[in-house]
Amino acid sequence: MNKIGLYIHIPFCKSKCPYCDFYSLRKGKKDYESYVSSVKRSLKMWAERTEKKADTLYLGGGTPSLLGGELISEIVLAAKESFGCNGEITVECNPSCIETDFFKRVVDAGVNRVSLGMQSAVDSERKKLGRLADVKAVERAINRAFLSGIENVSVDLMIGIPDQNEKTLAQSLEFCAQSGVKHISAYMLKVEEGTFFHENPHKFNFPDEDLTADLYLQMVNFLETEGYSQYEISNFAQQEYESRHNLKYWNCEEYLGIGPAAHSFLNGKRFYYPRDIQFFENGEEPVSDGDGGDLQEYIMLKLRLKDGLIFEECKKRFSDFSETEYIQKAEPMLKAGFMKLDDKSLAITTRGFLISNSIIEKIVY
Ligand code: SF4
Repeated sequence: MNKIGLYIHIPFCKSKCPYCDFYSLRKGKKDYESYVSSVKRSLKMWAERTEKKADTLYLGGGTPSLLGGELISEIVLAAKESFGCNGEITVECNPSCIETDFFKRVVDAGVNRVSLGMQSAVDSERKKLGRLADVKAVERAINRAFLSGIENVSVDLMIGIPDQNEKTLAQSLEFCAQSGVKHISAYMLKVEEGTFFHENPHKFNFPDEDLTADLYLQMVNFLETEGYSQYEISNFAQQEYESRHNLKYWNCEEYLGIGPAAHSFLNGKRFYYPRDIQFFENGEEPVSDGDGGDLQEYIMLKLRLKDGLIFEECKKRFSDFSETEYIQKAEPMLKAGFMKLDDKSLAITTRGFLISNSIIEKIVY
């Protein structure tokens, strides 16, 4: 039986960043402890109910590192007991809240990958993003993770930060390459409703579409030259360091999400816990989100990957799949250089990734 990916949401942050619409709350130690108990209960319940094992575990947030090494280790050990979790185990960390012995403690529990919310290595940009620590703290966190034996370190990088330009992006990129991290997740800033950026757009000088596109291409060129291959629209990795957990999402494989705002895809069904910590802590049932994993959805997800839609793989999963229809739809994008085709696969090119949403829509609908 294929193993699933296990995601656990930690819905706490020290403060709210001006661009963030993730579900996160400002709470204290007592709340952390009671939340961890609820997570452990939920893990047990789901393990009995699904009888599945996991080979990846991802603790995301929010700010998991805010809980401290002891509570994070408790969760990891409980997840291992219930689901095995014998593969990649990632914890997201915010450089502004990592206690000194955090990495040592979580390594003992089995953590072998760290994802650091850096966003930028330029302090003036970090301030605009509400990041509480300076770039020196990011550097310290990376080095501490390495020293604790975690070689698989990823950092988040952001494109489209107010006042960002080619020079400041180059600084962030150089920092990534020199720090020795193995993986970079690079996101375009989207001004989401309900965030401080959305409510105060006039206060910030956001790069326009053309500059954002230039920044994106600059980033891809730099990272590819430095040995970070773009294996997904927003993700770059040195060889063998692709995120196994996140690949499960794009390969349309099964995963279970525990905690408020966490989504799941199990046995062909999608469901999620609402953005409400009380709902989760009360042990309520998650909300159904219908069936998942049909051909349309599969193609949409696979086209996010550099390898794209691999015809043989697709035929194994959907016996009546024929590539002809999709190759025909892709014709104009192939001519324009936004897609590429060979006898095994159809994929979006680097330039095409800039407009991936509209390409995927044209292929799938
Ligand atoms: S630390 Fe991360 S999850 Fe928390 S508010 Fe900032 S961006 Fe959002």
